[in-house]
Amino acid sequence: MMESVVLCPSCGSTDTRSLGTIPCSDTFVGDNRRAFHANTRLFECHLCGLAFRHPQESAAEILDAYSSADDHSWRHSIEERPDWKLARSLVKLHASESTSVLDVGCYRGDFLACLDLPGRVYGVEPNRLAAERARSVGVDVIASDIGQLERKDILFDWITAFDVLEHLSSPRAFVEMSAGLLKPGGRLVIATGYRSHWTFRLMEPRYYYCTLAEHVSFINQKWIGRVASEFDLKVELTRQYSHYRASWGERLTQCLKNGVYSLSPEMGALARRCGFGGKDVRSNPGLLMHPPQWMPARDHIMVVFRRGGDADHGE
Ligand SMILES: [Zn+2]
Repeated sequence: MMESVVLCPSCGSTDTRSLGTIPCSDTFVGDNRRAFHANTRLFECHLCGLAFRHPQESAAEILDAYSSADDHSWRHSIEERPDWKLARSLVKLHASESTSVLDVGCYRGDFLACLDLPGRVYGVEPNRLAAERARSVGVDVIASDIGQLERKDILFDWITAFDVLEHLSSPRAFVEMSAGLLKPGGRLVIATGYRSHWTFRLMEPRYYYCTLAEHVSFINQKWIGRVASEFDLKVELTRQYSHYRASWGERLTQCLKNGVYSLSPEMGALARRCGFGGKDVRSNPGLLMHPPQWMPARDHIMVVFRRGGDADHGE
């Protein structure tokens, strides 16, 4: 039987191929009310380089889950966030009285608050409780979705999006929209999972990061270069990092577990059957093939894009 062609949700190309089945998961947006996302596969687009989940939860479902979550699930301090630290140092380096920063997915406004800027800080946030909290720390939350800003007559010096792109079916559309909201010479900072990292390449659809059903898009080096040239952006800086500070012992243990799992997922299944790994495999046998986490891996990337044109502000 002929398999139907799967279109790239980002660039629309038909030149895609399956990289294999993604093991099912028992959580969705940090919640286990919506168990199991079986029979999904990881695809790669040969044209733009994006890897994507197919089929995937709709944008509305993902947005709805984030909107209705509580307002402290993803609370962070800058001490735990190497991406925030680097972004803050860059913004500060170029800051002036009039510097404006928009954080998309600002949540409680924690990143914007730590900037301590003299200029204006704006947020986009779908979660109402988190948005209220952001307002209370001085963030002007101007939309619940970046698409609403196209109708507003406002441009920014900086746009940041931490842990946002992996939830979007078309990260390309996000970059296009953001580029249109930057002043000439303004910068877009994205931070997300990075599929060109060796741990991701080793595991591909079986990488723990892919098994989170709210993660639908995975960028690589090719994708970064392509969107930059498409939207007249210059890649000014890239930095790989880990979301998680781990001891050498933890690093070694998680590396070994993933090594064993990559060679023989059946060994991993046996370990889960014996009660290791914290999944309820008796009720949900599909979870036997769920991979181990690899949290200390430097599998995230921060990219700073700069819009073409002369900066007429803040430098
Ligand atoms: Zn594509």
